Amino acid sequence: MPPIKKHVQLSMDRTGKSYREVHEWIDDPEKKNERHDFSKVLVHAKMFEEKYGAEAAQEYVEHLVADLKGKFGHVVEDSEALVADALKYFGAR
Ligand SMILES: [Zn+2]
Repeated sequence: MPPIKKHVQLSMDRTGKSYREVHEWIDDPEKKNERHDFSKVLVHAKMFEEKYGAEAAQEYVEHLVADLKGKFGHVVEDSEALVADALKYFGAR
C-alpha cells in the first residue's frame, strides 16, 4: 500500500489539496484494518463529507482504491475488464 506521502501527492494532483488529515486517519497504525474495511465505506465517507466536504469523502474512497491496486496489482488490472463488464451488466456504470 502506498505510504501517506504518496496518498497526499495523489490528492494534490487530483484536487490541489493534500487531504493529509484524511489519509492519516485512514492509515492510523492502531486502527488500520477497520478503517480500510469496505463494508464501512458509506459511514466513513459520510463522516468525511460532514467534516471536510464532498471532495474529502471522494479522496477517502480514492485512498482505498489506491491501496487496493497496490495490494493486488496485476490481479486488479487483469480483472478490471471483467468488473467493467459486470458493472455494465447490472447497469451500475
Ligand atoms: Zn491506506
